[in-house]
Amino acid sequence: MTKYSMFMSDKNIKKELGETEKMTRYSMFMCDNCNFIFENKDVVFYINDDLSEMTEEALGILSSRTMTGSKISGFVHTWYCIHCKDFVDEYDIVSNKTNLSIRKVEEIIKKLSKHDKVIFTTNLKSIYHRNCPKCGREIDAVWNFNKCPQCEKGNLRLINEYIYEIKEYDLN
Ligand SMILES: [Zn+2]
Ligand SMILES: [Zn+2]
Repeated sequence: MTKYSMFMSDKNIKKELGETEKMTRYSMFMCDNCNFIFENKDVVFYINDDLSEMTEEALGILSSRTMTGSKISGFVHTWYCIHCKDFVDEYDIVSNKTNLSIRKVEEIIKKLSKHDKVIFTTNLKSIYHRNCPKCGREIDAVWNFNKCPQCEKGNLRLINEYIYEIKEYDLN
């Protein structure tokens, strides 16, 4: 996926996005054996001012502006648990302009998220390993599996891809 490597520090992400990296990519993969579809894209999240609603969308010009204006925002990274046959979503909190602790912010995100398997970058024991919040086994990026992670038989084929430019991106 993403050129915003998940192993970069916030500062590097800021530098990468704001000063050097201006492109984002969307690609869709489909299994040639089952109905598995995976959309590989850079996803951002932001929470409204009264902390009652969370928006998740593919990174673009509008979302980057809204993100900048909101009190809590960051990136969403998607992983897959081959044991549970389900996606796990990781929230990478980049900005917290509230007085709330990160733990409290995580509780809010958990409550507002539409995903049921959720982890947080701030809680990782090691940035190189992630575990499924349900079964505890190691999860991985969809593109790291040799075969389709759902049926484990088919191959993922690229069926759609585009690259677009992000303008005026600024996480400050
Ligand atoms: Zn499949
Ligand atoms: Zn699992």
